[in-house]
Amino acid sequence: MEATFRSLCECIDAIRRTRGSNAKIRRCAGFLSALQSNDDVRLAAQFIGEGAFASISSRKASIGSRTAGLAASSFCEIDYDLVFKPCRTATGSNSETIGRLMENIPEAAIKRSPEEISLPEMEEWFFRLSEVSSRDAKSGLLHAMWSRMTPVEIVYSIRMMGQGSLRIGFETRSLVSAISKAFSEDREEIRFVHMITGSIGRTAELARSGKLHEAGFKMFHPLSFMLASPIENRAVEDVSGYVAEEKFDGMRAQVHADGGKVEIYSRDLNQITGSFPEVVRFFASAQLSSTVLDGEICVFMDDRIMPFQMLQKRMGIKKPDKKIQSQYPVLFIAFDLLAHDGQTVFEQTLEERRDLLEKLSDQYGIPVTTRFELNDEDDVEELFNRAVSHGNEGLMLKKRFSRYEYGQRGKTWLKVKEPGGSFDTVIMYAHAGSGRRGGLYSDFTLGISVKEDERYEEEYIPIGKAYGGYTDQELKRLNTELKKLAVERYGPTLGLKPGIVVEIEFDDIQINKRTKAGYTLRLPRFRAIRWDLAPDDSDTLKDVEKAFERKMERDRLPQSVNPSFKISSR
Ligand code: AMP
Repeated sequence: MEATFRSLCECIDAIRRTRGSNAKIRRCAGFLSALQSNDDVRLAAQFIGEGAFASISSRKASIGSRTAGLAASSFCEIDYDLVFKPCRTATGSNSETIGRLMENIPEAAIKRSPEEISLPEMEEWFFRLSEVSSRDAKSGLLHAMWSRMTPVEIVYSIRMMGQGSLRIGFETRSLVSAISKAFSEDREEIRFVHMITGSIGRTAELARSGKLHEAGFKMFHPLSFMLASPIENRAVEDVSGYVAEEKFDGMRAQVHADGGKVEIYSRDLNQITGSFPEVVRFFASAQLSSTVLDGEICVFMDDRIMPFQMLQKRMGIKKPDKKIQSQYPVLFIAFDLLAHDGQTVFEQTLEERRDLLEKLSDQYGIPVTTRFELNDEDDVEELFNRAVSHGNEGLMLKKRFSRYEYGQRGKTWLKVKEPGGSFDTVIMYAHAGSGRRGGLYSDFTLGISVKEDERYEEEYIPIGKAYGGYTDQELKRLNTELKKLAVERYGPTLGLKPGIVVEIEFDDIQINKRTKAGYTLRLPRFRAIRWDLAPDDSDTLKDVEKAFERKMERDRLPQSVNPSFKISSR
């Protein structure tokens, strides 16, 4: 089959429309198996699974949503503030807005004469876009690229350049299955090679050429990270099969250390070594032999683990100076060992890996998490409360005899978290959902009140978008009520009069200057539809600000009391 970027995007869109993960996998496998070169297979898998660039390349196409939106507005000859922004509010998605405008605005249609773009040519476009830095240069390149594309290519190329997923309901694990099906290779072996290479494109290419066995572990190439599932969805049958550790509110990191050479990688497999010189100094002086550790970087001061928000001050800084390092000193706390002495150990059980990790910790003074035995549910409760009193997020439960599983959320690691809090909010917009709830409005933009707030002219401003947490019945009732409150319709979105109050729960509050409220909520979700409350009862921006401050100022137990991790003396 002639592999073009268009045929790939059409396949991606067909995957999005297909219901059921097996059917989605079959579609993707069919596409991959028909490709005629290794390069096409590598790029197709990479574009679907990782985006414009391989995660291990550390390269990013830094096209922000404002840059893309401004470029699209000039391409379509519309006003960014007056037309583009309201359309984006309506669809709730930058890329979707651009796709629709490209499709419907005659000025844009005239400029586009789609050509077939091969996958390597597409890689070249992404590369060129990542090389330019000024907004004008990016916009010029985007115009040149869009003039050769159909709307579906435009939408997915934008999503590939973004940091998020393609939003087609197709996770890495499905892509792994599709590669296995396409090239009749064992799924487990594909997963192993994915872990080793850290690259889904390379994995697909090796599968196609029958060379999976050639992939070997190499130091200073990040390995894929193991992920955890929330406990609500996967009730634990037998807690004694698990051990518990406190869940630190920090940043996941993988440290590769060999003698004086040290690199640190983030969860998205990017190199972040320069940002944490203290960690580098520590491991360089420890002189480990080809070791890979998995752990969490936290701000640690006055014997206490500090809130994530303090770590955020360090995260964007590529070369922190002495002042920043002393203001927000960080520590890497290890919780797993993936390789030692140049040999991988991730296929061994947690118990075995842990034994090795503790030996290394004793020998080199590496901070490691404290492990707690669990006998029954009461232990979980007690340890959870202790974790919270340390200022930690909750607990991680890990199956004792499990391998380190990559790129997949299973029952092996479970997280028990305390919700960050809850707010009563007003539904401002309802967006028609895709997938199972198709036909109903199922995604909601929720607002808080700024009626009495001199800083704002509006009555409500958005604080987050929530997708689930209601029953089918509640969703039906919600849809009936919504229609009575609708005042505007923009495509798949309804603008509503304030009328329905929803209590939402979230994991955390973070400062985000780019939003109207100045804050974003992590993982907002429905706790209850408050038919008993009126919009005037909703929480205000001041309540959000207070909750943020409370979190920052919360008392934190020092680590000398019931420590949640151990720093061995060297
Ligand atoms: P979440 O980000 O909510 O999916 O939770 C999983 C994350 O918790 C991991 O990616 C780690 O960054 C973090 N974490 C904190 N403490 C631990 C721990 N003791 N073991 C594993 N992960 C941890």
